[in-house]
Amino acid sequence: MSLNDHWMQRDLNVLWHPCTQMKDHEQLPLVPIKRGEGVWLEDFDGKRYLDAVSSWWVNVFGHANPRINQRIKDQVDQLEHVILAGFSHAPVIELSERLVKLTPAGLDRVFYADNGSSCIEVALKMSFHYWLNVGKPAKKRFVTLSNSYHGETIAAMSVGDVALFTDTYKALLLDTLKVPSPDCYFRPDGMDWEAHSRAMFAHMERTLAEHGHEVAAVIVEPLIQGAGGMRMYHPVYLRLLREACDRYGVHLIHDEIAVGFGRTGTMFACEQAGIRPDFLCLSKALTGGYLPLAACLTTDRIYQAFYDDYTSLRAFLHSHSYTGNPLACAAALATLDIFEQDNVIEANKALAARMTSATAHLADHPHVAEVRQTGMALAIEMVQDKASKTAYPWQERRGLKVYQHALQRGALLRPLGSVVYFLPPYVISEEQIDFLAEVASEGIDIATRNSVSVAVGNTQYPDFRDPG
Ligand SMILES: *Cc1c(COP(=O)(O)O)cnc(C)c1O
Repeated sequence: MSLNDHWMQRDLNVLWHPCTQMKDHEQLPLVPIKRGEGVWLEDFDGKRYLDAVSSWWVNVFGHANPRINQRIKDQVDQLEHVILAGFSHAPVIELSERLVKLTPAGLDRVFYADNGSSCIEVALKMSFHYWLNVGKPAKKRFVTLSNSYHGETIAAMSVGDVALFTDTYKALLLDTLKVPSPDCYFRPDGMDWEAHSRAMFAHMERTLAEHGHEVAAVIVEPLIQGAGGMRMYHPVYLRLLREACDRYGVHLIHDEIAVGFGRTGTMFACEQAGIRPDFLCLSKALTGGYLPLAACLTTDRIYQAFYDDYTSLRAFLHSHSYTGNPLACAAALATLDIFEQDNVIEANKALAARMTSATAHLADHPHVAEVRQTGMALAIEMVQDKASKTAYPWQERRGLKVYQHALQRGALLRPLGSVVYFLPPYVISEEQIDFLAEVASEGIDIATRNSVSVAVGNTQYPDFRDPG
């Protein structure tokens, strides 16, 4: 038995993996990873995989980055954790100061959570609670875009829009208002991104005009709807949305959990629209992909609505055990140092350009409807019929073919349904980008070559965040 098989067997005896139909592993080998270095992951049999998805979009400076490692090692000898209520520590104070400085002016307060989903819960609760504290209890609904993803907890799912979840857990979800997304994949022929995103804003305007009085906040994934298939839109939408939120007295929540920290080409996506949201949710790359940590930044105005005598009962009494964990904060500080010292946002421009050129030929592929890109995120949409953009039936799991081919070739590509994407760590080289493009091209050829016989199980929807 190989070492991989040994660990796989022990794993499958006891683990239940995230976002996985476990029965798949009767056919699909699990990949136990022994070590990581830079963009590479290495399994127990010594095979290496280029991590093209940054290990679920968290890793920006590679695995086992010496600078982040050292900072965590130093911190662990000093203080591993302390309660953040009534107590504080240097890493969380320094990190908060730096986040306030780094983000758009006016985001002056930082509240911590320990993962993206709970960060969304914080923003939703704070927004609702703000309106309660200022005497507007009617403002308790949330507006969200179609095809959104904001996490897995109940309220975060409620503001998301993925059939698998909204249908399965419908009975548990909050009642939200869904507005068609500005997603440019569906723009009419000949229309550019800006014109399409602008035109789609009419739906949002109408919803806010009608429901503004009962709406606490609009929540969006700025520029890229990640888990919904790396669908993209123009920053003009965010600018129009900011103006409309001000007009209708509604908060704007930017979920930059996936896109923050350089993914869209700027440090934060909101910079491209020149706006400041009322809540900015950050996680994933915040710690360089090392440790779970999330930050919800907000304005002094919102903070002040909670600031009162204890007996007024206006305080935000929300807490997580690991709030502001010092090790995670140390990893975040090291990550911010690297952004600064290595001028990463500027350096990424060449990498993004290489991603464009390396995949340009795929636009002509008979089963590729679109190759789209925003900064360091690039997506290739495989379709059954190119002219009509007819999707493959999800049951065919074409993306899974690409995933399997990539594994064989030594790359971790994990398509979302039929969308193959690259979201690589920023320490990738131009040659490694070429390699990924080659692997993806081959994979797409293989995945789209034949008709697929489908064994339809009893699940009704495609797996989500899964190589469906
Ligand atoms: C991943 C993600 C989340 C949820 O974060 P978790 O840490 O996985 O709970 C929320 N919003 C967006 C846009 C994400 O991509």
